[in-house]
Amino acid sequence: MSEHCLKSVACAFCSCHCTDIDIVIQDGKVTRIYPPCPVAEKGFRVETDDPPSHGSGGAYASNAACIEEIYRRLRAARLPLIWIGSGISYENQRSAVKLAKTLCACVDTPASKNAFGITRAYAESGMHWLSLGGLQEKVDTLVFWGCDLARKYPRFWERFVKNGRVQRLVNVNSLLPAADNEVVLNLPINPQLCLEILTQLRLMNKNQAVAASPLLHALFTAIHASRYGCFIFDPTQKACHPVTLRQAFQLIQEMNDTREERWFGLLLERGVNATGASTALLLETGYPGAVRFVENSARFSSLEWSAEYLIDNEETDLVVQVGQVDSQIQDKLIGKIEQNPQKMGYIVLDSNPPVSAQAAWLPVKPFGLNSGGTALRMDGLPIPIRPVFDSPGWELTEALERLAGEVSL
Ligand code: SF4
Repeated sequence: MSEHCLKSVACAFCSCHCTDIDIVIQDGKVTRIYPPCPVAEKGFRVETDDPPSHGSGGAYASNAACIEEIYRRLRAARLPLIWIGSGISYENQRSAVKLAKTLCACVDTPASKNAFGITRAYAESGMHWLSLGGLQEKVDTLVFWGCDLARKYPRFWERFVKNGRVQRLVNVNSLLPAADNEVVLNLPINPQLCLEILTQLRLMNKNQAVAASPLLHALFTAIHASRYGCFIFDPTQKACHPVTLRQAFQLIQEMNDTREERWFGLLLERGVNATGASTALLLETGYPGAVRFVENSARFSSLEWSAEYLIDNEETDLVVQVGQVDSQIQDKLIGKIEQNPQKMGYIVLDSNPPVSAQAAWLPVKPFGLNSGGTALRMDGLPIPIRPVFDSPGWELTEALERLAGEVSL
């Protein structure tokens, strides 16, 4: 039995990207990680006898045959949509945008759903954004707004809050770790009322009379007892609708304009390395939302910042998913594809098998386990990720290069 330990490994399985993980590998399998984290244990596949599958979904004799089939479908497509998901490296996200350009396809990322709200908010109120290091060093009051830290970011607390300067915690509809015993205020408000609450806070900040509840008054008092404060939002939650986020950033700007204290806003991610996906799209196209290369123009209306409308209206005839997409998009896709497989094709380039049997699946090595690259942490800090051990199968980089090569012939 061979056993060895890798020290200070960077974790690719949530956008905290902890860099302090020790991993014990025995006979090519990860048997233990430290410090413990349920999300990382699942990602590193601790103590499972289930190595990543490198089959071809049963439909193709080899990965090369699968690439051929994907290429054939791409050539036949009228308007392909390349959906650059999460859980892949930043380098591969950029290659996928370039592939979309070569194909004159439409391209989108998980972040574009919020791009409208966030870009407008930044444009109107300035960028009140904070790094995770700044959060630890400066912030004395934290408002968690619709965040599921306990399930999605198990070590966020321990790494960026616990040993920092935070004295006051406000929990608005959030699931915080069990160790949290310092919350000064719990506000379990209906997500649909979040916009109204923020509107009232803005009015109260302007000293206008508001018939606010005692809880809202307590929130206002907690906020204004701070010197440095930060709101943390989870854009996947109902409490953080893009319009609500815009209102929140306006509140932050107004508080910074009118009071002594300084406030910031921080967004959790829509998926692992979703920051990488949106940065890749922005750098390659200059645009933060869905881009349609076939018309050489971005979309402009608020409803068209995301390419979801192409799926809804069956305007695309082939969806190419590179990496993972969130369950909402996946459900939508599967519904359309299973309803009418002749009308909309589906190709998946990812380590996880697709949910739909209709998809052509090219299995690639899982990022952070058998494949490396760069991940951008939720605050934009680039984190180098190295593979924990090698495995047979294709790198996503190789698959994208082959496709780009075929397409440009
Ligand atoms: S909190 Fe996230 S990055 Fe840190 S160990 Fe857990 S899954 Fe990995």
